[in-house]
Amino acid sequence: IAKGDGGNRLQFYEPRFHEQIHRKMDIESRLRKAIERKEFLLHFQPILNGRDRIITGLECLIRWQSPELGRVSPAEFIPIAEETGLIHSIGEWVLLEACRQNKRWQNEGLPKIPIAVNLSTQQFNDGKIIERIENILNETGLAAEYLVIEITESMTMNKHHALTLLRNLKKLGVSIAIDDFGTGYSSLSYLSELPIDKLKIDQSFVKGMDLHNVNASIVNTIITMAENLNLQVIAEGVETEEECRLLLQYGCMTMQGYMFGHPMESGAVSELLALEQLV
Ligand code: C2E
Ligand code: MG
Ligand code: MG
Ligand code: MG
Repeated sequence: IAKGDGGNRLQFYEPRFHEQIHRKMDIESRLRKAIERKEFLLHFQPILNGRDRIITGLECLIRWQSPELGRVSPAEFIPIAEETGLIHSIGEWVLLEACRQNKRWQNEGLPKIPIAVNLSTQQFNDGKIIERIENILNETGLAAEYLVIEITESMTMNKHHALTLLRNLKKLGVSIAIDDFGTGYSSLSYLSELPIDKLKIDQSFVKGMDLHNVNASIVNTIITMAENLNLQVIAEGVETEEECRLLLQYGCMTMQGYMFGHPMESGAVSELLALEQLV
């Protein structure tokens, strides 16, 4: 029997769900103050051409360094931010910072590339999201063609809402990508009725792809169908030469993954973009 930090609390009898609820409440209360305390940071992961390795885009990924909790993964805190409604202010901060940073790179004379921002379900259902995005583009001076909004399949299930929202995004000039494709329940024929530009194949299909397994045939099929629908395909989570080679063979040129670069701070992106400028 282990004694807890409190001295007389017996950890051994503490039910597991109790700990989970504690952790959640802890995250929630610290999340409330995280923006004003400037605990968030953006990282950027290169999206590139797998053949010549030239960077053609970036995905912006939020990082949270809490003084009390340490580094907390977005996979853990974004769902809590969604449940509590905190995602609205966090998401707004991400959009603003991403556009601001991309404009900064452009002002430095670095190659102009689009930046992709993940939108959460709550933001997607926010009646004012178009207005917010438009304001951020105006405020930062970033041209809309350099912003990509990433949504997931599940957000498009209300077709009427999805059509209205995506059409309005397109009217602004912003591009739309379907993230984690293959993990939801939508079909490509359904998605083809929506004004989307890019399809990101979920990393679970890319992982461990080799010539003789089922993942490879799934990926190959998605690439072929996406091509027919005039969608740009991006493979997520590319980690090995073999995965890269097969993707190129199947006709998917655009990739993102640890093999080419982890998410990194803005300064490291500047250096990479500056190097490409010399080529
Ligand atoms: P996502 O949008 O699908 O982002 C890709 C995730 O895969 C990132 O995890 C990235 O670091 C990771 N990744 C990239 N390449 C590889 C690879 O080669 N191997 C492996 N194993 N992983 C790779 P991260 O940064 O932990 O983000 C997790 C998820 O959290 C994101 O998945 C996204 O759904 C969400 N997220 C991150 N930032 C934001 C944000 O600003 N707003 C919202 N709403 N969600 C965000
Ligand atoms: Mg994403
Ligand atoms: Mg993804
Ligand atoms: Mg994801």
